[in-house]
Amino acid sequence: MSQPECLFCSLVAEGEHVRRADGFVAIRDINPKAPVHLLVLPERHVESFREVGELSAEEAKRMLEFVAETAREAGLADYRVVVNVGRGAGQTVLHLHWHVLGGSGLGGFE
Ligand code: 5GP
Ligand code: ZN
Repeated sequence: MSQPECLFCSLVAEGEHVRRADGFVAIRDINPKAPVHLLVLPERHVESFREVGELSAEEAKRMLEFVAETAREAGLADYRVVVNVGRGAGQTVLHLHWHVLGGSGLGGFE
């Protein structure tokens, strides 16, 4: 289940959670790249989006709903959802997570 050396597994266990429900947590990104920058992660360790098949269809659906609900609760109507998959795409923490970015000045997609 949880990986001893995984930063996000430890934040699931003892981090400050914006939201927690149904096996998922939302936390604030420590180095925000937008006025609102939250991270949504499954409580159980899944290395990246590549391994999304390790979640059941029901869990995967709940994860997407959790992402949408996290944005809604943060007061965001318009926002961006990003998942970096693999080191080559900028994934620095190897525990699946969804970036939820919002607020003024989000700009275009680069
Ligand atoms: P990635 O680059 O893997 O897609 O995203 C990892 C994110 O985790 C980065 O945006 C980074 O700022 C954030 N992060 C790294 N260490 C910590 C931490 O200790 N606490 C929190 N809340 N976020 C972190
Ligand atoms: Zn982990």
